[in-house]
Amino acid sequence: MKHLNSTQAKKRLVDGNQRFVDGTTALHYKFHPHRYAKNIQDQAPFAIVLGCSDSRVPIETIFDQSFGDLFIIRIAGNIVAPSQMGSVEFAISKFKTSLIVVLGHSNCGAISATIDECINKTHLSGSLHSITNRIKPSILPLISLNLPNHELINKAIEVNIINSVKQLQSQSPIIKEAIENNKLEVIGANYSLKSGSVQFLI
Ligand SMILES: [Zn+2]
Repeated sequence: MKHLNSTQAKKRLVDGNQRFVDGTTALHYKFHPHRYAKNIQDQAPFAIVLGCSDSRVPIETIFDQSFGDLFIIRIAGNIVAPSQMGSVEFAISKFKTSLIVVLGHSNCGAISATIDECINKTHLSGSLHSITNRIKPSILPLISLNLPNHELINKAIEVNIINSVKQLQSQSPIIKEAIENNKLEVIGANYSLKSGSVQFLI
């Protein structure tokens, strides 16, 4: 596949998600990996997606993409911890991918668990806490606003996506350099479980 710039890569995702919403998916179900095994020795993913582990958000499917198209990192709450940052740096250095998408989604359990921890002081295991701890800075400023629960969750999901985008943009010299050279864009997106559509935020 020819190298796509970030605008072309985003368009491919937007078009793929539209096919998914319309029910006209073209790529995902037509690929026979064993028959074409010789063609997948090398990979050249056109986008990197940092998404949530939620089972209702299968990333290739919702963008109607196939084997070799997307370099995907999944973790509860689409947070940026060192291993996620390392995976992104690997993909940029190795494949010169021009687009990173942080993909959050509606009804995110990791966000709800963090809100619950902040408000009700629920006890979480140390490992789980290491995830909610990275989501908390997105939520704490919202709690004092006394929003209705569903608004608080929706807002927290958006802020958490934007904060992950900002962390990727600012905390890695490799990513920073690629952005400065106009070789890379980092954007945020929010998937609706209800409609199946992806809304691009920034
Ligand atoms: Zn989630």
